[in-house]
Amino acid sequence: MRPVPIMSDSIAELKKIIERSRRIVFFGGAGVSTASGIPDFRSEDGICSLDTGGASPEEILSAVYFTLHTAEFFDFYRRYMVHPEAEPNVIHRYLYRLEKEDRLRGIVTQNIDGLHRMAGNKRVYELHGSIHENYCVDCEKSYPLEKIMESGGVPRCDKCGGIVRPWVVLYGEMPDKYTGIGACREISGADCLIVAGTSLQVEPAASYIDYFTGRDLVVINKEPTPADERANLVIRGDAAEVFAQLT
Ligand code: NAD
Ligand code: ZN
Repeated sequence: MRPVPIMSDSIAELKKIIERSRRIVFFGGAGVSTASGIPDFRSEDGICSLDTGGASPEEILSAVYFTLHTAEFFDFYRRYMVHPEAEPNVIHRYLYRLEKEDRLRGIVTQNIDGLHRMAGNKRVYELHGSIHENYCVDCEKSYPLEKIMESGGVPRCDKCGGIVRPWVVLYGEMPDKYTGIGACREISGADCLIVAGTSLQVEPAASYIDYFTGRDLVVINKEPTPADERANLVIRGDAAEVFAQLT
């Protein structure tokens, strides 16, 4: 369908949809956290536009690069992917309220920033993992984010000396199977799916929305997405501004 401007009837329509829904699932991406000061990937000033002078950001964030150039991977990761000062914004806070009211069945996120959990949500499917979960690749001992941020170069396990890496899904790696199954189950049981702040370019995550068979598919994004033509409400604009008007 054709997108409608934010300030018009679209907010009223979104409110109506949320009010009549009892099993809402939110499917989000990096655009959900730009209002928290974390750049996304594919916007003009996103991480993909960085001139690293060598490998592209997508190459650096790949399993092959991690294995072959581990120290350089960590330099990039600490500098651009981790934002310890970031806090939940109006979108995260609104979704927490919806979960407390028992209207939100789950959040399926491609983000690794942990902000939905920080906002208090419990039913969060982090398809690409979280910067807050880190583990030794040899003995699996787990570590907090500080381990990665406070070590220079390649972080090493205190117990066995193995490399400590974030539990984040790099290009070339598959998402955790059980997280994916849980996410698809929630989406398939939803009566309303809100897709926001994602370009829907990363697979298999993007295809998970195909499991939705419910009544209302809503897309809120600054740019067109492949889901727009299936949606019954498309709001082309800033998701933080949209959610601010719902509260
Ligand atoms: P993407 O960068 O490919 O797409 C983001 C989309 O959100 C774009 O279409 C952009 O126009 C839109 N957008 C940006 N700010 C917005 C806003 N305020 N309101 C509405 N729309 C907005 O991001 P993606 O689809 O999530 O895929 C990128 C991958 O990058 C994911 O796999 C994710 O793991 C990773 N990533 C995560 C973070 C994070 O954790 N916050 C940040 C950057 C990248
Ligand atoms: Zn170890």
